[in-house]
Amino acid sequence: MPEMPEVEYTVRQLRSSVVGATIDEVMVFWERTIGHPDAATFRAETAGRHITGARRRGKFSLLDLSGDLFIAIHRRMTGNFFLLTPGWHIDTQLREEDPAAWSTKGPSFIPPHQSDETILQAVSLQVLVEPVLATKTAYCRVCFNLVDGRRLLFTDPRKFGRIELWSRQQEAEAFKGLGLEPLSENFTVAFLTEMLATRKPSIKQALLAQDIIAGIGNIYADEALFYAGIHPLRRADSLTPAEIHSLHEGIVVVLTTGIEHGGTSFNDYRDMWGEAGDNYSHMHVYQQHGQPCGRCGTHIERILVAQRSTHFCPACQRLTGE
Ligand SMILES: [Zn+2]
Repeated sequence: MPEMPEVEYTVRQLRSSVVGATIDEVMVFWERTIGHPDAATFRAETAGRHITGARRRGKFSLLDLSGDLFIAIHRRMTGNFFLLTPGWHIDTQLREEDPAAWSTKGPSFIPPHQSDETILQAVSLQVLVEPVLATKTAYCRVCFNLVDGRRLLFTDPRKFGRIELWSRQQEAEAFKGLGLEPLSENFTVAFLTEMLATRKPSIKQALLAQDIIAGIGNIYADEALFYAGIHPLRRADSLTPAEIHSLHEGIVVVLTTGIEHGGTSFNDYRDMWGEAGDNYSHMHVYQQHGQPCGRCGTHIERILVAQRSTHFCPACQRLTGE
């Protein structure tokens, strides 16, 4: 699942590619992907709008539109963007031929030239291009057709992702219950102290609660706790001022570093809308169980906290203060 740093650099990619473009029409292949308002209104209201900006709020990617509207996209488990150059065709035959398969897979996207060119060219394109492209364009739920001929696909195999349309006046309503941005000036040690003072569950759960800090997920919660030397099962309201101070610093450091690595991988990444960067090679504890801790050499352990797999160093992050 993408977390704040992954969403942040997706937003930067959107900013450098589709801001300034105009939406011709939006094709909705799975209506429940549109979370607000209904799919018909969404299509009617977005047609002809200019994309004026790209922003992030928590784990939402936002596209600002002309007319004081914005689109909020939450990718959840498997949602992804994919941008096609002009000339691609959409094949929706499956809708009539096999409705069950259609509801799972959605349309097929055919590269430019393949449909009309000679058989030889088509075959070579299939051999060279199909294995890569077919996996990327499958499971398209919503397709933004731009006036310049490009198509911005939202693919989502598991269909948990949601796309919403709101007016700028409704922004508070759209994000009600969403906590502070951890890289904003408002996210201070005092704020974190106040929020944690009332939380009895574990600090890991408190970090995952989106109503305190927006955008932190499993990866960065584990990394921030390692940074601060705090055991993930500590009660949130039991942290000392010094620990809260380190945790605050850890949150900012791991998120900032994550964004930098995402940005780095984006620079030499040929496919703009593929996998989420090389962050994994910079992890200290996340999915490092069985590996030696970089600080002390003790093996990193994995436990379950509130159904979430949680990684920590039992020596650097002790549960009891001794
Ligand atoms: Zn350690």
